[in-house]
Amino acid sequence: MNREKAKLAQAEVYKTALDMYSSGLVSGTWGNISARIDETFMVITPSGMAYESLSPDLMVVVNMDTLKYEGSLKPSIEAIVHADIYKNRPEVNGIVHTHSTYALTVATARKEIPPICEDQVQILGGSIRVADYAMPGTKEMALACLKALDGRQGALIANHGAISCDVSLAKAFIGSQIIEKTAMVYINSMAIGGPVEISQKDVAFFSDFFRNKYGQKT
Ligand code: 13P
Ligand code: ZN
Repeated sequence: MNREKAKLAQAEVYKTALDMYSSGLVSGTWGNISARIDETFMVITPSGMAYESLSPDLMVVVNMDTLKYEGSLKPSIEAIVHADIYKNRPEVNGIVHTHSTYALTVATARKEIPPICEDQVQILGGSIRVADYAMPGTKEMALACLKALDGRQGALIANHGAISCDVSLAKAFIGSQIIEKTAMVYINSMAIGGPVEISQKDVAFFSDFFRNKYGQKT
């Protein structure tokens, strides 16, 4: 493992964890964040710890094949979910899991959010599916999340919360904010007759446009 890369990933995970906490997407110590180091290793937040009391070097380096970890703090109980996503989605470099209020509201109703907002479609790839209910921290939950995330960057998790993944942790964090906003819009639109869906043709156009042509050339 490249130690310099591991240190950078620890710093990024720690900073994003603080941002997630101050954004109000999580309460207490629920939710977790990770970043890929390489094909075998990732960095993830430690389990059940208030991030303000920690530091970047306490973000836990985990072997994704064995789930063995370095250091004195146990990794998030959802390490298996994060590891399975990295192993099955080679393009993914960052993952954010929250229990944010509106996402959780829709997740408790176990309703898939159809494609209704442009930014939802651009950033998350289409409808927001609901992963089947499974106990936290299990292989079953990992499989349910992978299925719901197929071809997408975000999903709800039944009676639990939301999960987003993307080519960078910064993008995955934006995805978690878009899930929350879309869930709020969905609930609100239900009160005024229900949303009108974006057509599949436009969904395909927006996804391609945003991923490949939007913004400045770098
Ligand atoms: P951890 O504190 O172990 O990350 O667990 C929080 C959580 O969200 C479990 O689903
Ligand atoms: Zn959780």
